[in-house]
Amino acid sequence: MALDLRTHTVTIDAGCISCGMCESLVPEVFSVPAGSTSQVRRDWLDWAQTTPESEERLRGARDSCPVDVIRLES
Ligand code: SF4
Repeated sequence: MALDLRTHTVTIDAGCISCGMCESLVPEVFSVPAGSTSQVRRDWLDWAQTTPESEERLRGARDSCPVDVIRLES
């Protein structure tokens, strides 16, 4: 289902190892610039609101992070 943006936020805790997994899975939300840690794109809300599978894909990225620093909170 599409994510309910009234109740969810996406954040990245300290400790990202810049592996690129989140960006490869959901490039509409995560960006891992060269030499930097992962960042949440400014326009991720637009994508999440209009994509039916946004919640499942975000949960998949969160669960695939090898150091468990992606937070999908409600
Ligand atoms: S999957 Fe986790 S460790 Fe890898 S780039 Fe994304 S936030 Fe960083």
